[in-house]
Amino acid sequence: METRSKLPRSCKIILKVMKSQELLTAHDIFSRMRAGNPKSPGLSTTYRSMEILLKEGFVQSVDLGDTQKLYELVCPGEHHHHLVCDGCGLQIHMEECALDDFRQTLVETYGFCVSLHRLEIFGTCENCTRFTDSDFPVTADDAKNKLPS
Ligand SMILES: [Zn+2]
Ligand SMILES: [Zn+2]
Ligand SMILES: [Zn+2]
Repeated sequence: METRSKLPRSCKIILKVMKSQELLTAHDIFSRMRAGNPKSPGLSTTYRSMEILLKEGFVQSVDLGDTQKLYELVCPGEHHHHLVCDGCGLQIHMEECALDDFRQTLVETYGFCVSLHRLEIFGTCENCTRFTDSDFPVTADDAKNKLPS
């Protein structure tokens, strides 16, 4: 089990400013550290430290299709996935990895052993589904009729 004690100082500072269930870019983390202390690690140190934290399992990286990589604090060695709403951008943090059984299936069916996987699921959240259904009963025909001629 990895412990925080052997991490570089910059990594420990980073872990202090990160909160769980929050997706942050390296730049967000850098700004947050600077706000607390002008002598905090610089941006390139922040990027390097994020790689160390990732490798040691203290954070996970999340790819939501944005240009910037997002980081999130996790229990050391654990990871989870997200459901992301296309409508309002809500991010639901799933309790655990849903792929454990699937991993076994891949071994049995394809003889393929998974070393790394990424899974973020995009769709519509409960709120947005309700909003779309009741407040905007728009059909394709309605939309066409409303177009300016
Ligand atoms: Zn939504
Ligand atoms: Zn999360
Ligand atoms: Zn997983």
